Amino acid sequence: MNMLQSDKVKAKALELGFMQCGIAPAHALREQQALFEQALAEGYQADMHFLEREVDQRFNPESLLEGCESVVVVTWSYLTDAQPASDHYRTARYTWVEDYHQAVKRQLQPLADFVQQECPGAQCRITVDSSRISEKQWAVQSGVGCYGKNGLIHNESGSFFVLGVLLTTARVDHYDSPQKSDCGDCDICVKSCPAHALDVPFRVDARKCFAYQTVENKSVRDSVLEDSPLLFGCDICQERCPRNKKNIQKVLKMSKTSVFLRLQNRDFENLTKEGFKTYFGETAIARRTYPRFYHAIEIKREKSRNFEILTTEKSNILQCAGRVLKEEAEAVEGLIQYLNQDFEESVRLILNSKGRLIVTGIGKSAIIGQKIVATLNSTGTPAVFMHAADAVHGDLGIIQPHDVVLCISKSGNTPEITQLTPFLKQNGNKMIAMVGNMSSFLAQSADYVLNCSVLKEATPNNLAPTSSSTAQLAMGDALATALIVERGFTPQDFAKLHPGGSLGKRLTMKVKDLYKFNDKPAVAPDASIQEVILEISGKCLGVTAVLDGEKLVGAITDGDLRRMLQKSADYAQLTAKEVMTKSPKTIHEETLAADAVNYMNTNSITNLFVVDADNRYLGVIHIHDLIREGFY
Ligand code: SF4
Ligand code: SF4
Repeated sequence: MNMLQSDKVKAKALELGFMQCGIAPAHALREQQALFEQALAEGYQADMHFLEREVDQRFNPESLLEGCESVVVVTWSYLTDAQPASDHYRTARYTWVEDYHQAVKRQLQPLADFVQQECPGAQCRITVDSSRISEKQWAVQSGVGCYGKNGLIHNESGSFFVLGVLLTTARVDHYDSPQKSDCGDCDICVKSCPAHALDVPFRVDARKCFAYQTVENKSVRDSVLEDSPLLFGCDICQERCPRNKKNIQKVLKMSKTSVFLRLQNRDFENLTKEGFKTYFGETAIARRTYPRFYHAIEIKREKSRNFEILTTEKSNILQCAGRVLKEEAEAVEGLIQYLNQDFEESVRLILNSKGRLIVTGIGKSAIIGQKIVATLNSTGTPAVFMHAADAVHGDLGIIQPHDVVLCISKSGNTPEITQLTPFLKQNGNKMIAMVGNMSSFLAQSADYVLNCSVLKEATPNNLAPTSSSTAQLAMGDALATALIVERGFTPQDFAKLHPGGSLGKRLTMKVKDLYKFNDKPAVAPDASIQEVILEISGKCLGVTAVLDGEKLVGAITDGDLRRMLQKSADYAQLTAKEVMTKSPKTIHEETLAADAVNYMNTNSITNLFVVDADNRYLGVIHIHDLIREGFY
């Protein structure tokens, strides 16, 4: 086999658009492998357990290509002069251009063809993040990079590049030497790292590094996504590195700029699955699924919302209150889209049940449950509240086999609810879940689900159930109201259950329920004025009846007495029948108190005499009696 000429290979690589090309002899890197294994033992790989597998392949090219003689390493710059839109959730620079996996692989193939053309019979294998080989180690060996304090860097070109590796069985006339680190005393990247992932020099702690966590870790915690300064990846330490600053304007031909850089935050927040493909399909971000990417956007949106709330609403109490009311109203309106067959079936289930509706929940959901029970009971649906925590400590005895159970829970995974569910199933009770998480245990277990999902709570940082509990409350009202309508529940039915309420009083309270508590002022027709005055003053109703036997023949009010004094100075001789108003306004004791109010208002009077069908005097009802009962 011919000997490959190093200069020719490198010239070809540059012609193909690569930034640099170096070639190292293929041999096992035992020392580097030992250091790598030590880092693994210390847990630096974090959740990237794939790093623990087939470690030998990383450092021994022979294990990937039999007879491998040379390792050709190319670097591809992803620098671009494109700038993201303002107000844009920033992603790491390597995502701003075409996915390097595709671009580098595409350009390495002609390089492999060239090698085989120069050395007929030579075997080649291309790898771009697609095998276990430690590309960074081979980049160092081939002289195209060295380890800076934050990862691979080239002393001249900086670190905004990615690698491609071509393994070949061809031997090369000249091999390159490893490049040595030139960071010196500089520690700019170490100090700039917001995650303190560079605290051990020349070693990136993947457990802390946002670049690893936000890209590689499939089970990354929400708190990490929130803390990460970038939406996807991280290159803050690279941005600060002085070696990158001098090359920042360099634009390479291969860097095809992505259209997503034009997106603003609100475009990210409205990103659909189709939009994800359109804007990110050709970038390295497409290696992440849409739901995972969108989840990270939601975290960012929540963070910026919280920041905005805490900065703009401080000292602006009314603005804060207005936003809360608006967001809660939107949460309730959002429930309309969830009204479906399950809601209809739930109403029919409760209507046709021979038992009661048992409502249960814990925490704020329990409080909402109590209110729903109160509404249901007052509107004709027998309901009982059972606290979920007490249920599993004996209160389960409340539940009878024919009862329907409504479980309220935002998460749908609270331990008390998950403990309760098997019992209900075993007991044969039908379950309705009112839940804010459709993939939860409760939603999956219930017979019917009332979806109460909300986008966010109205409090900053989702501190307290606000929008979610309002949504539960509103859904409970929707359920109770649908039951009212289906039952044909009338105001009279309502009043029967609410004798103490204002509607109940209007529909049920009668004159006889009020007048009997008053004194019963009365004088005979021949009574003197002095007797009349004493009777009116003593009974405190401002009026007295004038009776002939038991029959009402007239009435004297304190107004009548004032008018009498104005007309006659000689009133001492007058009797009741000379002062009284004949045919005073009367009312029957079976009349509704509400009608008595109307009667008084119509006649501009404050008293009515209560009489029976034979005009026998029974007593007096005063406007104050009606005011006291809430009729005004
Ligand atoms: S990529 Fe970000 S988190 Fe990782 S070391 Fe650099 S600055 Fe720190
Ligand atoms: S910032 Fe300084 S220490 Fe860090 S990689 Fe660049 S030159 Fe080295």
